[in-house]
Amino acid sequence: MPRQQPEIVVVGAGFSGAVVARSLADAGHRVRIIERRGHIGGNAYDDFDAHGILVHRHGPHLFHTNSARVFDYLGRFTAWRPYEHRVLSSVGGKLLPVPINLDTINGFFGLDLTEAEAAAHLARIREPRDPVLTSEDVVVNAVGRDLYEAMFRNYTRKQWGLDPSALDASVAARIPVRTSRDDRYFTDSYQAMPADGYSALFRRMLDHPAIAVECGVDFFTVRDRLVPRHLIYTGPVDGFFGHVLGRLPYRSLRFEHEHVAGTGSFQPAATVNYPNEHAFTRITEFRKITGQAATGTSIVREYPQAEGEPYYPVPNPANQALHHRYRALARAEEDVTFVGRLAEYRYYNMDQAVGSALKVAGRLVRALS
Ligand code: FAD
Ligand code: UDP
Repeated sequence: MPRQQPEIVVVGAGFSGAVVARSLADAGHRVRIIERRGHIGGNAYDDFDAHGILVHRHGPHLFHTNSARVFDYLGRFTAWRPYEHRVLSSVGGKLLPVPINLDTINGFFGLDLTEAEAAAHLARIREPRDPVLTSEDVVVNAVGRDLYEAMFRNYTRKQWGLDPSALDASVAARIPVRTSRDDRYFTDSYQAMPADGYSALFRRMLDHPAIAVECGVDFFTVRDRLVPRHLIYTGPVDGFFGHVLGRLPYRSLRFEHEHVAGTGSFQPAATVNYPNEHAFTRITEFRKITGQAATGTSIVREYPQAEGEPYYPVPNPANQALHHRYRALARAEEDVTFVGRLAEYRYYNMDQAVGSALKVAGRLVRALS
């Protein structure tokens, strides 16, 4: 370790840590980032596989936001490639659009409805729930039991190891229901991929004379030797406190990457979901997202699991209650700021992580100056 103590230590080089680090460095502070993994970028990290295809090592990452502030901030470090994500779901031998739209409804029920007729059809088959508390409530309330069981129930059980009735409404509410023919996964005003990939974006963001990055170092192995003026922690909040109140559940995934030689296209959409078949939830084909030209194509299958890298907080009342107790401990740490998907235990998309980090950084710049 360098002898000089860094002014600010940031734990984690994902979006949250990188944005706070860069903002503090831009404001004149010296920052050291400590990252457990061998690379920067957190879960958004990408690199070229053995076949020269740019792949996302921690699962497919599609950038979308309604925030001009977030989009413009990241635009300092990357050019963008416009990209709108589309997803099909394998249901009853057909590939139907997700989110549910007019074509999903017609394809699933074997009908030929107009938009207005589809809305009337959903109004007939939905099972009204009041209040809407769980992910099951959200879906059956909108589209009824048949579509719920075909497209949501088993996918959710696989992904989370929980029935949708045991998960907050917010999880399934990420996926809207439409009666139009819009088949885009997201409707945000900005939808784009970093032109040279996420890792290149992170390299530029962290390329600053006042930022030092150490990868392959677990904070807890060096914690005792560090006496920073302020610490920013973006890892799992329960881990920071030695799990003193018990373990906060995080859902993990195993990624199976595969290269398919000799073809330009493996599947008809960038992502195909498999709610009812296979142990994996979905297959994503990277070239369809990045637009890269090549003769072969690379895909990834996502296998959910309980153990391993903490990828997702698991939103439900019991876990939120435990998180609130950890949050009280976190708030009592005056010289530590907790920010990010793992530290705030919030199911943030990338833009939300960046937005939260920008807010925190603004506060810190004022407090530390
Ligand atoms: P992370 O990216 O998790 O970064 C935290 C970093 O802290 C990690 O690199 C970790 O190694 C490090 N760390 C933890 N503990 C320690 C320690 N003790 N010492 C040192 N370092 C430590 N969002 C979207 O907007 N669009 C998508 O399409 C999308 N797809 C996703 C797909 C998957 C499979 C997953 C898991 C997430 C996806 N996300 C997506 C969400 C996105 O990954 C997060 O919003 C974002 O990565 C959050 O950034 P973060 O910095 O808070 O956390
Ligand atoms: N979901 C589902 N079926 C689908 C797509 C999504 O049941 O075809 C549910 C599932 O519970 C999933 C959640 O909706 O975890 C959110 O989906 P999203 O694609 O946003 O998940 P992420 O990309 O964050 O893994």
